[in-house]
Amino acid sequence: MPAAKRRAALLRLVGSLALILLLARAQTQFVSAMPIGPESPDLQPGRQHGMLPEGASAGEDFSTARTTLTLYEAQSGDTLWSIAAQFDLDVDTLRWSNPELVHNPDYLQPGQQIIVIPLRGAYVTVEPGDTLERLAERWGVAPADIGSYPLNRLRPGEEPAPGAKLVIPHGVREVVLAPPGPAAGYTYAWPIRGYVTQNYRSGHHAVDLGAPYGAKVYAARAGRCIFQQWSAVGYGYLVIVDHGDGSQAYYSHLKGAWVHPGEWVERGGLVGEVGSTGNSTGPHVHFEIRVRGVNQNPLQLLPPKP
Ligand SMILES: [Zn+2]
Repeated sequence: MPAAKRRAALLRLVGSLALILLLARAQTQFVSAMPIGPESPDLQPGRQHGMLPEGASAGEDFSTARTTLTLYEAQSGDTLWSIAAQFDLDVDTLRWSNPELVHNPDYLQPGQQIIVIPLRGAYVTVEPGDTLERLAERWGVAPADIGSYPLNRLRPGEEPAPGAKLVIPHGVREVVLAPPGPAAGYTYAWPIRGYVTQNYRSGHHAVDLGAPYGAKVYAARAGRCIFQQWSAVGYGYLVIVDHGDGSQAYYSHLKGAWVHPGEWVERGGLVGEVGSTGNSTGPHVHFEIRVRGVNQNPLQLLPPKP
């Protein structure tokens, strides 16, 4: 074969090969653009009507949103806070879904099983006399929010039976504890209607006042907030109020603070809420009174009863 003819044949062969490759590639692209298997929108789990997680909006990845109850076994080193973060929930949701944790969220043991619901709210047992209306009022939601939630499996107009378990989507419950007395004639009032769980003694220059987690804490005396900070080592928020005469009150183990540095707070004004203590003896306020930097025994400055 002459050299020119051989070159032409080779070019034809290369051209054919290129065309085959191009066609094959186009075929692959065409196939991969087709909805197949789990890629199909109709087959994606959680996208069927009625299975959408409550509060989910279009654009969220429904395939990863939970639509069922989860029974989580606490591991050593877990806290209610770490579990809440893992499930993108808050501590209150876990507390309100697990009655043994309502009063003390620190009471969590390895191996303990806790119920995790798919969204913020509560998981409750229906008591005799409960209706959707009553439950809704108690938890600050609308009756239809509970009645139509898929996991509750209630037919329209159906009332839940006593003993039934219901998810209360976005339910929130306030802790109601009467405020302490005005303490007329005393320089300091009780910051909370709590009970003394630890006295003032050597090594503990404070008084611990036990009260339910989330209960409100009030200023024992009017003054200006000079410090408000979260402590990373398990003491929660610490608020310091300066009374202007060299004395200061320390409120610690708070869940959150209601006053900020520079703000004035009246006696009986809100300082924060009872929070975690990092131990299992129960939530409390660690309350100190210092005069010119020296700790005083608060029980000697407070009225005998809160
Ligand atoms: Zn203490």
